[in-house]
Amino acid sequence: MKRTILYAYIALMVAVGLPFLANLGEGGAQAAPAGHNAVNPTPLPAVDEAPPAPSASPETETLSPAPAALSAAPFPAPAQLRVLLPDGTAAAMDTQDYLTGVVSAEMPPGFHDEALRAQAVAARTYALYCAAFSKHGEAQVCTDYRCCQAWQSDAQLREKWGEDYDANYEKIRSAVEDTYGEYLAAGGQPVFAAFHSSSASATENSAAVWSAVPYLVSVPSPETADDVPNYISTLRCSPIDFRDTVLSAHPGADFSGPEDQWIGELRRDESGRVASVVLGGEEVSGTELRSLFSLRSTAFELSYSSSAFTFTVTGFGHGVGMSQYGADKMARLGADYRQILAHYYPGTTLVK
Ligand SMILES: [Zn+2]
Repeated sequence: MKRTILYAYIALMVAVGLPFLANLGEGGAQAAPAGHNAVNPTPLPAVDEAPPAPSASPETETLSPAPAALSAAPFPAPAQLRVLLPDGTAAAMDTQDYLTGVVSAEMPPGFHDEALRAQAVAARTYALYCAAFSKHGEAQVCTDYRCCQAWQSDAQLREKWGEDYDANYEKIRSAVEDTYGEYLAAGGQPVFAAFHSSSASATENSAAVWSAVPYLVSVPSPETADDVPNYISTLRCSPIDFRDTVLSAHPGADFSGPEDQWIGELRRDESGRVASVVLGGEEVSGTELRSLFSLRSTAFELSYSSSAFTFTVTGFGHGVGMSQYGADKMARLGADYRQILAHYYPGTTLVK
C-alpha cells in the first residue's frame, strides 16, 4: 500500500511539473540539490554535553565576522581517498577530483560561488569523517547519497550538462580548489557534516533524527518558497491507504471509529517539525511517518477533509546541518562560505 501511495505522490509531482526523487542535480538552478539524506547515516559520536543555544539569525547584518586566518588542522586532508564506485569496485581517487564529483551531484552549478564553497567544505569534511573509520571496509566512502554523499563521474557530468559542461565544471572545480584542504573540526576530528536540501524556517536538531550532537542543533534558515522549487508539496491519500499504511508499521492501531477522529494529538519539536502524531490511538513519530508515506520532510501539516487525508509538507530532507538552499540564500544576502558554515555548524572550527 505504501508503494501505491508513493506512485500517487510521484504522479502528483509529475502532474505539477516539478522534480521529485530527483536526487542528482539535473543542471541549472532549478534542479533540487540532493541533500545529505541518509536514512541510516554513519554512527554518530556519543555526546554527553548539552547542545549550545542556536546561533544568530542568518541575516547578514547579524553575522559575526569570520576569522581572518584558518586554524591549523589536526591533520591535513589526504591527497587521495578510496571510493566505492557504483559498480562495486573500490578505486583510489584524487580527493579534489572526488569532491568535484560530489559538489556537482549535490548542488546545482547555478548556486552562488560562496554556497558552492560551503558545499565543498561540507563534502570534504564528511568524506574525512567517513575515512577516519573506513566506512566501507576497503573503501572509505561510497557514491550513494542514501549512505554517504552523491557523486557523479566526469562522463555523467558531460551527459548531464551538455554544452554547459566547461562552464559548470570550471565553476564547481573553482569552489573545490578555493577551499583546498579545508574542513570543519571539533575536538581534533572532522565533524559529521550532515546537510540537506531545504528547511522550513529552521534546521533540525540531530537529536530528533539520530542522536544529539553539539554542532548539529536547530538554527534559523532563510530560504522561502520564493527561493526553492517545490518547496511546498502535498500528498493526499484515501482513508483506506492511510489506514493500511499506518497499520503496516503499527498493527495495534485502532481505526474502527469515524475517519475524522483517526488523527489525534500532533506534537512538534523545537524546530517546528512533527515530533509525533497519535493515529488510531498509537503514537507515530514524525520520522516514521516521513518514511511510511515518502514525505519530503517531517515539516508537515496533516488534515482530514472530504474523505481524504492530506499531508502538506515544507522543504526537503532530514533538516539536519547545512541547508543547501539556505546556504545559497545566505550567500545571495552577502555571507561568505565561512559565515555560512559557522552558522549551520555552530561550535566547529574551519581548519586547513
Ligand atoms: Zn557509503
